[in-house]
Amino acid sequence: MTTWTPIDCHAHTKMSDGELSIEELIETVRARGVRPSIADHLSTDVSLAVKSVDAVREYLDALEPFDVARGGEFCWHDTLWREIHEDLMSRFTHLIGSLHAVRVCREKQWVSMFQRTLPDELTPVTYMMQHIEELERMADDMPVDILAHPTLLALPMRTLPVDELWTEALEERLVEALFRAGIAFEISNRYRPHERLVQRAHDRGVRLSLGSDGHTRAQVGDIAFPLEMAKRVGAAESALYDPYVHGTRAAR
Ligand SMILES: [Zn+2]
Ligand SMILES: [Zn+2]
Repeated sequence: MTTWTPIDCHAHTKMSDGELSIEELIETVRARGVRPSIADHLSTDVSLAVKSVDAVREYLDALEPFDVARGGEFCWHDTLWREIHEDLMSRFTHLIGSLHAVRVCREKQWVSMFQRTLPDELTPVTYMMQHIEELERMADDMPVDILAHPTLLALPMRTLPVDELWTEALEERLVEALFRAGIAFEISNRYRPHERLVQRAHDRGVRLSLGSDGHTRAQVGDIAFPLEMAKRVGAAESALYDPYVHGTRAAR
């Protein structure tokens, strides 16, 4: 009899802004009955990240001796992922793309998901329109396997009711963009998506991926919520994104 073990596709170590070493992360995640992967920030625009092509090579060299999936979280708005040659890209087991900033105000200005204030003229409706357009550009251009935290929005938006922000039309556009590109939808434990959107992604045939986005011992490998949500929308265990089964677009 074979037993299926879930995999946490998104977790951070000390190599970027996490607290654990590679060994500590692997041990902690395994103790939770979950398979580990490491997906540190690879971006010039995250303060404690891996920031250059040479540093990405060293990052992969550091992971290689371990029995752990080798992921990386790239920022769409940053240029580092565009500079990495295919040979290096194909050493990853999976690539995660993050929308950590979107262009607003006729695409002239980048707004970070973590800044406290937004330009005055930006209403929630206009913001969401810009957000979805950025996401569509990302899905079309960025050769990643997983969209990290698909419902992460600019900080001031996050206090608004999720139903006001995500209309069904916007959800459709998000799901279509992922489906077209063959990018998996991450059910993040850190930025938890609402069920209607996860259901829509699953119903459209978008693969779901489980991610703790953990940075600490308490967080890494904690994928109980994502796993529960995946089951609730009817996803089969074998259909959940697994880099060892489904591979990475970077190696194709
Ligand atoms: Zn992120
Ligand atoms: Zn992350």
